[in-house]
Amino acid sequence: MRTENLDAKSIERFLEHLANVSDDPNDLRRLQKKYSSNFLPSSFLLDSPLLRLEREQREKFDNDSLHETYTSQDDQEASLRHLTELRWILRKAWREADPRLRQWHAFDLRRRFHRMMNPDREQEPPDATPFEQAVYYFQQNHQRARYCQNPECFNPYYISSHLKPTRFCNPKCAGPAQKAVKLEWWNKHKQEMLRKRKAQRKQRKISHKRGKEN
Ligand SMILES: [Zn+2]
Repeated sequence: MRTENLDAKSIERFLEHLANVSDDPNDLRRLQKKYSSNFLPSSFLLDSPLLRLEREQREKFDNDSLHETYTSQDDQEASLRHLTELRWILRKAWREADPRLRQWHAFDLRRRFHRMMNPDREQEPPDATPFEQAVYYFQQNHQRARYCQNPECFNPYYISSHLKPTRFCNPKCAGPAQKAVKLEWWNKHKQEMLRKRKAQRKQRKISHKRGKEN
């Protein structure tokens, strides 16, 4: 994993992708692969001493018993489990309304990642790895991290480009809600509007008639 300074856009894209990724193992694998050169390790098991230790213990246990042996498939599954754990904490931070708790969950995320990657140094602060930088960036810009209010949105976790409050990730998502608001308004004001229109039509007819008479 590289530790150079990252630009804001790539950090935002990574955070959104991690928060939005589905439970489908294929999606999770694609995400891990996509970011394995910077934000994420290629596998939490291969790149993390703690998880390697876990694996060694498991293998020892397997050899001592009649259990099935530990396979690379298990490694992969375990690695994806760690990824979903990180996603779960990120989502918690993202959807938390209280800024103090939001910061806490984000900090917890940095700490857990550090613990996964450097269990022997967990009492010391982590290096500025891309993941550490990304979540620190989230903490500094947390007011722009929003959740799209369209219940059918596929990628509801988004980072707005400005501080002005927004409820939807894009105009497409806002569409149905805006229509619903218009419909609600119409139902409320229907009688009154129809009365007005009728009166206007009547008025037009009268002036038309007068125009003819003159
Ligand atoms: Zn949306």
